[in-house]
Amino acid sequence: MTIVVFGSVVQDLISYTPRFPRPGESVCGTSFLAGPGGKGANQAVAAAKLGANVEIIARVGSDIFGEANIKSLNEANVGTKSVQKVEQCSTATATITVSEEGENSIVVVLGANEKMSAEVAKSCREQIGKATLLMCQNEVPQCGNRTALQMAREQNVTTFYNPAPGNSSLEKSILALVDIVCTNENEAEFLTDIKAETVESAFKAAEKMLEMGPHTAIVTLGPKGVILARKNEKTVHIPVLKVTAVDTTGAGDCFCGSLAYFLTKMKDLPVEEAVKRASIIAAHCVTRKGTQASYRSREELEQLDK
Ligand code: ATP
Repeated sequence: MTIVVFGSVVQDLISYTPRFPRPGESVCGTSFLAGPGGKGANQAVAAAKLGANVEIIARVGSDIFGEANIKSLNEANVGTKSVQKVEQCSTATATITVSEEGENSIVVVLGANEKMSAEVAKSCREQIGKATLLMCQNEVPQCGNRTALQMAREQNVTTFYNPAPGNSSLEKSILALVDIVCTNENEAEFLTDIKAETVESAFKAAEKMLEMGPHTAIVTLGPKGVILARKNEKTVHIPVLKVTAVDTTGAGDCFCGSLAYFLTKMKDLPVEEAVKRASIIAAHCVTRKGTQASYRSREELEQLDK
């Protein structure tokens, strides 16, 4: 197994609307999409669509969403032998609103993802040990992530952490267990207390993250490009492809999954080039609606290049 994701499976319920409702207000949306999501599943699917060998360790509820999400993971070629159904528990849901500008706002109910405990991580020790790269995000309990990262460290497996969604309870000490950290501007701020809105301030935030443990720190800035900082290397800004954004939901996950693919499948590729390619793939995904549905397969990307 090349990539093991210890992470979330979430049923996405997406409403498209001319503008976001204010508190207490109802607005009439234009369309609705239900689909598989969750940062763990999204990243696993993004990597698998490019051709990576991926497995996910996850929990779903004993409801129709659980079944549907396992099915769609299998259809995307993501291994699900460590996805278990939890009795009397709902599959996690994300109620997403996407505005005409392509911006999103999201409410997540964690459901079965809350069962991703340290014990679950411990029970998957052997599986984690067989991976080249372990990926974790923030839609499961920190104790589960911490233990999974520890298991990977003990077995010389590279650790990749995307602390999303960011919040003020983020445990900064977890970065001591991380080789590669990838954040957006908000998550970078939660970790470093530096507002990483501009390229200049994101440089500082990325370099500060390097002092907290990882050898590689990445800050994605949407259309403003990506900052890549590495220990003993010059920090660089990688501009992103110019596209018309239709829906940015899951773009960060597309970037992380694609980057994991390049880092594990093309080990000789310079990291800067891997980041550049991942950012181009993520840019393509914002031109289509949906989350996993917006991720292109390797074959589709080859067609775009022609
Ligand atoms: P989300 O929460 O919407 O999934 P994010 O905030 O985690 O995204 P972003 O930095 O917005 O992450 O986007 C991740 C990557 O997606 C960017 O590095 C870029 O490659 C691509 N991307 C996102 N928005 C755009 C855009 N408007 N134009 C081009 N590329 C984009």
